[in-house]
This record gives sequence, C-alpha cells and structure tokens, in this order.
Amino acid sequence: METRIMERRKRIALVAHDNKKKELIEWAVFNKVTLAKHRLYATGTTGSLLEEKLDQSITKLQSGPLGGDLQIGAKIAEGKIDVLIFFWDPMEAQPHDPDIKALLRISATWNIPVACDRATADFILTSPLMQETYEPVIEDYSVYIKRKLK
Ligand code: PGA
Repeated sequence: METRIMERRKRIALVAHDNKKKELIEWAVFNKVTLAKHRLYATGTTGSLLEEKLDQSITKLQSGPLGGDLQIGAKIAEGKIDVLIFFWDPMEAQPHDPDIKALLRISATWNIPVACDRATADFILTSPLMQETYEPVIEDYSVYIKRKLK
C-alpha cells in the first residue's frame, strides 16, 4: 500500500477557465497571506495573472488547452501536488474537455482535496489540516496492479 505525506507547506495547484479567472484572482488576493505559506503551481495564463497580483513566485506549466491540466494531473500521479483549486467553467464548453475530466479523475484516484468553486476553496484553505502534516488514505491499488489477465 502506498503512503503519501502532505507536509505542512502544501503544494497547491491553481487553475481557472477564462470566465473564472477574475474570481480566482480575487480569491487568491484575499488569501494572499495564507497562500504565501505554501508552494504554488498553476497553468500558464492563470499563473501569469496570479504572479502579477501575489508577491510570490509560481511554478507555471503550459496553458491548460496546450497540456497544462495534464501536466498538473501528472504531478498529482507522482505525488507532487497536495491540493487542487480548479475553477472550471460550468457554463461554457472547453476545447480540452477530456483533459479536465482526466485532471478531476486523477485527483479522485489519489485522494487529493479539490475545490471547484470559491466556497470549497475557502473551506479547504481555512482547514486546520492546511497547517499540519497529513497522510491521506490511498486506496490499495496493488490488487489492481497485480490483477490476473487472461
Ligand atoms: P490557463 O489554463 O490558465 O492557461 O488559461 C486554464 C485551463 O483552461 O485549463
């Protein structure tokens, strides 16, 4: 069984679709002091906008539609992201819809806390667990890995 420890300083990935960017930036600016205690990652455009407003460097990946969501998903699979703040747009179809689904799926696979809206982001960021080490319970995938194939 795989164990993963989230350190006190969390690695937080931030992603917002175009119609949700303003909301994410507002939320991040409001929570600037708390976010400064953690390490931030973001998709390209979201990351550039955040960097302009926060006094903090951000690891910027590709823009979402160019593979940024998948890069974050890959980091989650590798145990390199602890929390995902993902303001996806429920009112507009996106060209990279399969990537969005993949990111949400891999987050659930690895039991990562995910906020898809501002209220959930508030609840996650104010959780006492954000200041502590935390060990998420990861499902035992060894049964799957060692499955018998006919
Ligand atoms: P962006 O990507 O931050 O580069 O705009 C976000 C997304 O659409 O997934």
